[in-house]
Amino acid sequence: MEISGKKISIIGAEKSGIGAAKLIRKSGGIPFISDSGQEEKLKDSISALEELGFDFEIGKHSDRVFNCELMIASPGVPSNAEVMVKAREKKIKLISEIELASAFCKGNIIAITGSNGKTTTTTLCNYVLNTSGLKSYTAGNIGVAFSEIALDIKENEFVSLEVSSFQLDLIDTFKPKVSVVLNITPDHLNRYEYKFENYISSKLRIYKNQDRDDFVILNHDDKTLMDSVVKLSEGQRGFESSDFYFSLSSSQSNGCFVSGDKIIFNNNGKTLFTCNVKEVNLKGEHNLANAMAVISIAKLFDADNEKIIEALRSFQAIEHRLELVREIGGVKFINDSKATNVDSVWYALRSFNEPIFLILGGQDKGNDYNQIKDLVVERVVKIFAIGSSAEKVFNFFHLLVKVEIKRTMEDAVLAASKEARQDEVVLLSPACASFDMFNDYEQRGKVFKEVVNRL
Ligand code: ADP
Repeated sequence: MEISGKKISIIGAEKSGIGAAKLIRKSGGIPFISDSGQEEKLKDSISALEELGFDFEIGKHSDRVFNCELMIASPGVPSNAEVMVKAREKKIKLISEIELASAFCKGNIIAITGSNGKTTTTTLCNYVLNTSGLKSYTAGNIGVAFSEIALDIKENEFVSLEVSSFQLDLIDTFKPKVSVVLNITPDHLNRYEYKFENYISSKLRIYKNQDRDDFVILNHDDKTLMDSVVKLSEGQRGFESSDFYFSLSSSQSNGCFVSGDKIIFNNNGKTLFTCNVKEVNLKGEHNLANAMAVISIAKLFDADNEKIIEALRSFQAIEHRLELVREIGGVKFINDSKATNVDSVWYALRSFNEPIFLILGGQDKGNDYNQIKDLVVERVVKIFAIGSSAEKVFNFFHLLVKVEIKRTMEDAVLAASKEARQDEVVLLSPACASFDMFNDYEQRGKVFKEVVNRL
């Protein structure tokens, strides 16, 4: 991508916007950053931009933003935002930040997407590769922006990249060495005109530029994903790269699967890796699936089996994802604040054999609770409903299981801790966004942990 001397506007002044600006400047382009958010909320960004000496505006998108040859959109900016619509009308080329960064990255991009499990899988992938002696970085929606490190990654090195559908909406030449689709369940539909098929197509753009030297890794158990791949292949084209699958239920001649208590990876029918499922130091079968995606990646690059197992054994659960906070009198308190959709709660509920006191609710995203209805009846003793969707939660569940509405997280935790007995679990797995009560899911999880730690 030739950007030297070109004026480039960046929409969004947070991590990825700042990363993009740095990359553009280093590569000889002239960045201008514009963010319509309130100054109050962007204080840290403003100080960073001032310190770095960038040209920027906050609180509006003035006409100056359209005086450019290329526009970079941060993932938080919806494609129907006025500034994006206008840019399209003016025929300005509009790309996402990963599209920009990938054009400058010489290393192998491992792009990981899915409705759930991206952060866990990306982090685990990075950990397994590094433990195996394959130099890897993490970037994308977690930690640093891809643009921030793209120029540092050498040819034989790797970047484990967490990719959201928003980033994929605006790619053009983005071409990962490996692309992984973990699963597809309804999420973020508000950004896709409430059409599930639009969201699916967006996710599957991940492999659109891959060729025979690249790899696609897909969850064979995900019916929506498998059906969509077939459908898309009939219409446009499928992937031309080599495809690998992972499955909890069926053996794969190209890919990874569980057979009894073993995880097996085959390439062309030949077994190249075996380990016991117990080696995966993460709770829940969804995490076995995540681990199988990672094992597949590692084996595609000939990582040593012993090193892979060593990494799987020592990997620690990430904060806010089925994180054990404390055990008090035999009651486990689990923080799964990152469960912001119904599917992740389904997996959380299946991860425990003990009776569960579930803290559920928050800002609703059009949730359909039918998916977890049977599991709730089977495993949940009582629901404590919180947040702006507390009433919706109550209305859906109260004839099936005990439900009590609680005003604050503290009230919910205190009530749950009074009722839970030895060998029971208090689980925060809200199925909702957090913005009605908290800044983000991280703050929600921290508040939960603070209350638990005070008990
Ligand atoms: P993402 O980055 O896609 O949001 P995370 O790794 O942060 O994914 O996990 C988000 C939530 O989804 C957590 O509650 C986690 O326990 C759950 N989860 C993780 N992996 C999976 C998976 N493969 N399928 C379903 N849920 C998952």
